[in-house]
Amino acid sequence: MPKQKSKKNNRHVPYAVGFKPPPEQAKIKAIGSCPIVPELDPQSSDGFEFFPPIPQPTSIDDWLAQYNEEGQSYWDYLKQSPWLSKRKLKYMPQLFVHNGRTILEKYPNGKIYLLPLGDFTGENCVKFKYLIEFSQIYLGIPVVELPGIALEEENHKIFWTENPEDRPIYGKRSSARKRKFEINSRFHPATKRIQLKMDETLLRLKSLIPADAICMVGLTMYDLYGDDTDLFVAGMAAGNHRVAVFSFNRYDPALTFSIEKWYDITCNSSMSSSERRKLILQRSCKLLVHEIGHLLGIDHCIYYDCCMNGSGHLTEDFRQPMHLCPVDLHKLHTLVGFDVVSRYQALAKFYMDHKMDEEHNWVIKRIEFILNQSKT
Ligand SMILES: [Zn+2]
Ligand SMILES: [Zn+2]
Repeated sequence: MPKQKSKKNNRHVPYAVGFKPPPEQAKIKAIGSCPIVPELDPQSSDGFEFFPPIPQPTSIDDWLAQYNEEGQSYWDYLKQSPWLSKRKLKYMPQLFVHNGRTILEKYPNGKIYLLPLGDFTGENCVKFKYLIEFSQIYLGIPVVELPGIALEEENHKIFWTENPEDRPIYGKRSSARKRKFEINSRFHPATKRIQLKMDETLLRLKSLIPADAICMVGLTMYDLYGDDTDLFVAGMAAGNHRVAVFSFNRYDPALTFSIEKWYDITCNSSMSSSERRKLILQRSCKLLVHEIGHLLGIDHCIYYDCCMNGSGHLTEDFRQPMHLCPVDLHKLHTLVGFDVVSRYQALAKFYMDHKMDEEHNWVIKRIEFILNQSKT
């Protein structure tokens, strides 16, 4: 009944103890521009609100119901980001220009590497070339795909195969032989589901990072877990080492996951395959830029509805927008130095090509707003 539904939607649960949503003035201050430039102006246009506040939690599992987040303003980011420091980051065996202003002026050879872990050829797997294209436009830093690591299931175990010939740029391995070994996983016999253990995977990835990497992200369609008590984990970054691993396994809208048992998954295939692929791509793109945002030093956002909001569960994650709020766009802009409108135009093309209508409408309206504001 509609009446009940609206009642349910209005039911708010309290914020985590100590958390207060920032007032309007604090948000403007956090953006870090005075007077605000059109690209970062958070005001609405013709009744359309570009950056609504983060909704108050409606479930005790929601992010802001669980965590008392402090927030990271633009000014905090300038102080905290290791990528804006005049000193070279530890463990970066690459060219460094200490007086460079942006990340690519400081690390002229720097790249973000994406490494496929296991198979991505299935019909409902996200296409790597689209992830590369999208993240490069969104972040403004070169994004490069590395030759993948083969993950194969044998006797209910997962085996990892590294071929040194695939990766001469690593330059670390003396042996040229293929290496194959079992990697930690768990298997459920009745359902035949298998999950990959994250910590060992991360450890292995650390040894594979190319010398000119800003960061490297391993991506997999395998479901991941950390501790035996975990249902699953989306992934994890090891910030100091600039390496992360993430799974797209739970992003398929045709799948329903039990909230109690990791192996209990049902598939509803009534959804059209094009709609299914579109949502998988949209969710995967969002996860990827959110996580690389963290690797670039951007913390969770408490100021607006934003791609950098934290999420306590998948439904909350899916609800969040693809775009960055003015606070976080300003951080990325200072770090990378792109032209905001050209970036939005390139994103508009990507969204149009992939029929991501909501994102496309937002970005087109945003471009219009910025261009109109700069005229006045
Ligand atoms: Zn996050
Ligand atoms: Zn934000």
